[in-house]
Amino acid sequence: MASIFTKIINGDIPSYKIAESDDYYAFLDINPLAKGHTLVIPKKETDYIFDIEDEEYKGLFAFAKKVGIAVEKVIPCKRIGITVIGLEVPHAHVHIIPINSIYDMDFKQPKLKFSNEEFTETAFSIKSEFQKL
Ligand code: AMP
Repeated sequence: MASIFTKIINGDIPSYKIAESDDYYAFLDINPLAKGHTLVIPKKETDYIFDIEDEEYKGLFAFAKKVGIAVEKVIPCKRIGITVIGLEVPHAHVHIIPINSIYDMDFKQPKLKFSNEEFTETAFSIKSEFQKL
C-alpha cells in the first residue's frame, strides 16, 4: 500500500507544498516543532533512509540543502537543524527545522498549531525564496 507521503506526492492527500523536482518533494510538516518545519522526501518510496542508493541519497540531501536555505530566508533563526527520524511514517524523509537552541530540535516538545491561512502563507513565502535559488 502507498505510504501517506506517496499519496501526498500523487495529490491524493493535500500538502503545503514548498518545492518539487523529478525525484524529490518538499512540504510543510503539519505538526511542526517550529514555523517553517519542512519535510523533504524522495518520490521513490523507500522506508529506511539507509536503504536508498547512494546517488538518490546524495540528491535528497542536496535538495534538502536548497530547501533549508529557502526556509532560513523566511523564518528568523540561528540555524537550520536537519534530522532524520522516520519512526512514524515508513517513507524516508528529512526534517528541516529552523532553530535558535538545541531544544528546538527536541521532538518531545509540544507541536505548534497554525491555521490553514498561516500554513499557506508560510509555504508560499518559502516556495518563492526557493524559486529564486
Ligand atoms: P517521523 O516518521 O518520526 O520522522 O515523523 C513523521 C513526521 O511526518 C511527523 O513530524 C509528522 O508531523 C509528519 N506528518 C505526518 N503526516 C503528515 C502529513 N499528512 N503532512 C505533513 N506532515 C505529516
